[in-house]
Amino acid sequence: MKKPLIVLFILATTFSFTTSAQEVSIDGRLKPHLDAFFELCKTYNIEYNDKLFALKKIAVVETLQTSSKGSTLGMLQRDEDRNVENIAINWIAMLDPEILKVVAFHEFGHYFLEYDHHVCDDCGIIMSVVNTSYFDIANDWENQIKILFEKSPAYLKNQNSMNTTVAQQNYSGN
Ligand SMILES: [Zn+2]
Repeated sequence: MKKPLIVLFILATTFSFTTSAQEVSIDGRLKPHLDAFFELCKTYNIEYNDKLFALKKIAVVETLQTSSKGSTLGMLQRDEDRNVENIAINWIAMLDPEILKVVAFHEFGHYFLEYDHHVCDDCGIIMSVVNTSYFDIANDWENQIKILFEKSPAYLKNQNSMNTTVAQQNYSGN
């Protein structure tokens, strides 16, 4: 039998990264997922540093809607100018490490990979509106990551600008 409540007692360490411009507060419980996510950003050549320092915090919170009918598991919170200031993850996602991982990557995807929209309602990938089975996704993780990054607006934008550069080079070469 699982003992999901144990995760609640994990110490809520907060890491702070300071630059001259801004300080970002990062919840220690999300830090390993964020580090893994940034490693993938490096692999896929996606810039994340400026976006990171534009944030105030990445945190597990108790303020998102939580009910038996459905909970908001994660959310990008914006300031009055509609700029994202916080990435908030519902504490309830911590009841299972696999759910936490999928929810964290989903919200990081919205922000760092520039998914302004969901890809589908419930199609078993990280950027669905809802996921009936987080465990199917977790069990198919490598493939899920590939889909998440390779189909992302941020990655496709890079690919397009690379193609444009090549096209311009070809043009000027003629
Ligand atoms: Zn979403």
